[in-house]
Amino acid sequence: MKRRDLIKYLSVAPIVGGIVGSGIPFLSDAAVIAPLKRDLIKELGLRTFINAAGTYTTHTASLMDPEVMEAINSSSSQFVMISEVQDKVGEKIAELCHAEAAMVTAGCWSALVLGTAGILTGTDLKKIGQLPNVEGFEKMEMIVQKGHNYDYVHAPTNAGAKVIVIETKEELENAITEKTALMYYLNVATDLGQIKHEEWVAIAKKHQVPTMIDIAADIPPVQNLWKYNDLGFDLVCVSGGKAICGPQSAGILMGRKELIKAARLNAPPHGDNIGRGMKVNKEEILGMYAALDHYIKRDHKKEWQDWEERVALIGDEAKKVNGVTTTVTVPPIANHTPLLNIAWDISKIKITSQELQLALRNGSPSIETMQFSPNSINITVFMLRPGEEKIVAKRVHEELNKVG
Ligand SMILES: *Cc1c(COP(=O)(O)O)cnc(C)c1O
Repeated sequence: MKRRDLIKYLSVAPIVGGIVGSGIPFLSDAAVIAPLKRDLIKELGLRTFINAAGTYTTHTASLMDPEVMEAINSSSSQFVMISEVQDKVGEKIAELCHAEAAMVTAGCWSALVLGTAGILTGTDLKKIGQLPNVEGFEKMEMIVQKGHNYDYVHAPTNAGAKVIVIETKEELENAITEKTALMYYLNVATDLGQIKHEEWVAIAKKHQVPTMIDIAADIPPVQNLWKYNDLGFDLVCVSGGKAICGPQSAGILMGRKELIKAARLNAPPHGDNIGRGMKVNKEEILGMYAALDHYIKRDHKKEWQDWEERVALIGDEAKKVNGVTTTVTVPPIANHTPLLNIAWDISKIKITSQELQLALRNGSPSIETMQFSPNSINITVFMLRPGEEKIVAKRVHEELNKVG
């Protein structure tokens, strides 16, 4: 197709299937105001479930509160400049989280890519256009502790960073050279690394190397939203759609002003860069801010009590079946909420964890849980809607009782 023909085609295309007549493919006022009656989940026959598993991406992670949907809906019928939305929301998020600056990204993974890209390129447009190829870059290496060198390290390498793995403090000091671009820290893997936050930051500062930390699923506790900025990490990456309950495809990158500025140049609306495919629309940017603001203001103490009551209720009901034992633990970092393990004596209760998981999934209503061992399942309650704990308790008891 010739360029002229293509332009002609594109200018006609939106009308096909749109509103013919006015020639303007916009929604009519009535369509905007009228309540949405169409339920696509029903129409398409999608299975919905009670989420007793957790904030897994596979399970669509979390549900957005009305405050978030209000931000999304109210902004969807107006034009604004995307950069101005990022400016304003970035300022607000930075203020809430004790950072110099912030931006909304397409999830934590995208924050890791864009943060790394920003560190590698600065505001040099030529370098930005060149990523992920770092040929000719003075600094392109990223130091990571062996225990932190996990799946998600793929994000910074996607931006072009070359991973240098170290284990001891001495190895770290030796690994820092004029090629070192950044030092990456995976918060959830803290126990798997010899060097902890304060020391990591201190060594980096001594050598003037920027640090970036992944705290994707590490809220709650709410204080973690500012803890790592306060500790002196130069960039902090968070998931927006896990426990904060923002849009599933949103996240936050926050930290030093010049690094956020550079990260934004590596992202939309700019075109010639590595982040162009990580677009976040205005509704999600505003939704992310609304979610964060709402999350911080929640009564966290009360919420914790609710969670404890829910696990107690489900655990007590399960234990009514002879041979069932329960334990409640709280992961110290990441998904830091009460986690209920329901285990059973396989000689008394003839069901495997896989069979129980399937029975709960295929029951009515469907319930998602996690297998833990051949004779135990894990349940979290922070994604339950009020009252659902009673249904989970009843169903778990029913299924175990059937074979117990
Ligand atoms: C979930 C997660 C990510 C990815 O976050 P998204 O918001 O889904 O992009 C990155 N790192 C860790 C440790 C995570 O748990």
